[in-house]
Parts: sequence; structure tokens; C-alpha cells
Amino acid sequence: MKLSDIGEFGLIERFAPLFKHLIPEGLEGIGDDCAIIPINAEESLVITTDLLVEDVHFLKEHILPRELGWKSLAVSLSDIASMGATPVGSFLSIALPENIPVAWTDEFFNGYHDLSSKESTPLLGGDTTKSPDKIVVNVTVVGKILNKYIKRRSGAKPGDLIAVTGYLGDSAAGLKLILLDMAKEGVSSALARSHHMPVPHIKEGKWLSSLAEVHAMMDVSDGISSDLDHIMKASNCHAEVWLEKLPVSDHLTKVSLENGWDIYSLATGGGEDYVLLLTIDKNMEQEIKNEFFKLFGKELYIIGEVKEGLPCVDWMLNDEKVDLCKGFNHFG
Ligand code: ADP
Ligand code: MG
Repeated sequence: MKLSDIGEFGLIERFAPLFKHLIPEGLEGIGDDCAIIPINAEESLVITTDLLVEDVHFLKEHILPRELGWKSLAVSLSDIASMGATPVGSFLSIALPENIPVAWTDEFFNGYHDLSSKESTPLLGGDTTKSPDKIVVNVTVVGKILNKYIKRRSGAKPGDLIAVTGYLGDSAAGLKLILLDMAKEGVSSALARSHHMPVPHIKEGKWLSSLAEVHAMMDVSDGISSDLDHIMKASNCHAEVWLEKLPVSDHLTKVSLENGWDIYSLATGGGEDYVLLLTIDKNMEQEIKNEFFKLFGKELYIIGEVKEGLPCVDWMLNDEKVDLCKGFNHFG
């Protein structure tokens, strides 16, 4: 059996149980976007770590060092946002080939600093080492949150509505355009920017976490076809998603029509949108949507409903069930 036979999540399921008995009461580890470590009766630290490997997560010729610095922090801040927490600080470990220009590293750290400043999140430490050839970046972010506000993947309940805090598919379309060398200007370069410089929804996450009517939350990193599955498995519920309700940008619609791309595959399977995916009490739909719009000047998009049943997702298009390809899975 090879790793590709079990995939990224199959591997995690094999080793995670080995460590379960070592986790003391009150701590939460593998399985959510962040680990949770209570610091007193009221508050917890939440901690996440993410790895970016050259030629797997980014292509050096296609991404500016400033964009890579931003993105390295953004992907971890997004996990902090998904718990509803406030970031406290970050740790950056980086492996670099020795012939890399110092101007490249300066720009990388400028990008990392841009987002650190925007989110008032200081760089608190890390590690720097030589790499034989490729660049490897690992960012850990620590956040803080009141225990009563923590949102987990496991909180969804039958009857909830499923919502997202922003457009889906822009990042995937941006990546396609980058790989086709078509991301030079206008709409295409805007989509490429979504891929290279995602903006984590920290303020949205904090506000949503303060609402008892928000039951489950995670961030969309692998595509909702994979990510929503995680919520359903953790909550032991079934989901129905209405494809015609997925929020897609005018930019995505335009390039998909021009290039004959399947807009639904990009919106559900592409990944790296770093919006928040959540479930809310159906009875509070209008109040939450109205307040969300007032606070953030954009819509909270309702895309489906949680039901009782097998922990998987039915994809519906105009009331008919359709097949969809899965989201991103390393080795899968
Ligand atoms: P995310 O996309 O939110 O970063 P992942 O899908 O990468 O989350 O990981 C799922 C869960 O598995 C998380 O709780 C993560 O901490 C855990 N995990 C992934 N890889 C490892 C690893 N090598 N060792 C321990 N935990 C891991
Ligand atoms: Mg996540």
C-alpha cells in the first residue's frame, strides 16, 4: 500500500489515534482547524500550523516574494479566523537555498510584515535553515478566544443553514490562469491576486463566533466539497448544497465562460478561497444576514441545509442531485 492509496486524510486517521491517550482532559488536538489549549476557566489559546512547499503549493517563477510572504501568514491566520479567535502572534520557519538573492528574502519579509501589520500580529520567533534546492515555509499562529465563543467543526445540527462569507472559486480560477500564463492584466490578474494574496476573514470570524446561533465553522482551504465533508463527519450530519446559490464573482463567471471552464467544479473543488464555511440556526437567518451586511458591507451567502443522515454531502442543481469531483487532498 502506498501513501497515494490512503491520501492525506487517511494518513492522519492512521497516526492520530496513537496520541489520543496523551491528551489531557480539556485540551483538543488533531481534527479541527486549530488545537485548543485552555489557559483559565474563561479563555483558551488556539494554535495552527501550515506548510508551504515550493512546486507543491507555489511556483517561484509565478509568485512574487512579497505575495508569498503574505500568503504564508494568511493561510494560518485563516485557521485562527475559523475558530473565531483573535491572533496573538506568529512563528515562521523557513528553509532557503543559499543562492537566493537577499532582495528576494527582503521582499518575502515585507509581504509577511504587510499582513502582520494589517492584523496586528507580531512575528514572535521561528527557525531559519539552508535547503538544498527548494523553498519550504512553515507558519504557526497562536490565537486567543473566550471559551464560550469557540466554534468547532463538530457543532452542526440538522435544520441548520450552511453559509459562506465570500466568493468561491476565484482562487482556483486564478491558479489556472497563472499556469496558462494568462494572468497578466484586468480580470485575470485580479483572480490571480485572489490566489496569491488571500485575505483571511478574521473580523468576520470574531463576530460570527460571538453568536450562539452560529453552530459550526471552518475555513475553506481545500474546496467546500472536501471541507464541508469534514464538518459533516465531525457533526455526524448530512448536508444538501444548492449549487445555483454558490456565490461566484463576475470575474469568475467571465473567465469561465471565455475558457469553457465548469464554474461549479471551480467553486466547489478548487480550494484556497480562505472564506469561512459555517452553519447557523435557521430561525436567525434574516437577523444574522442583515447584521453581517451592516458590519461588513457584503452578503453572508446561504448555500444549503444540514439534514439528518449519512455524514456526506448531496449536491443539488435546481432540485436535482448531481455528481461532483472532490476537493484537494495531498497524495489522494
Ligand atoms: P487545515 O486545512 O485547517 O490546516 P488540515 O486539513 O491540514 O487542516 O488538517 C486536518 C487536521 O489534522 C488538523 O487538526 C491538523 O492539525 C491535523 N494534522 C494534519 N497534519 C498533521 C500532522 N502531520 N501531525 C499532526 N496533526 C496533523
Ligand atoms: Mg482550516
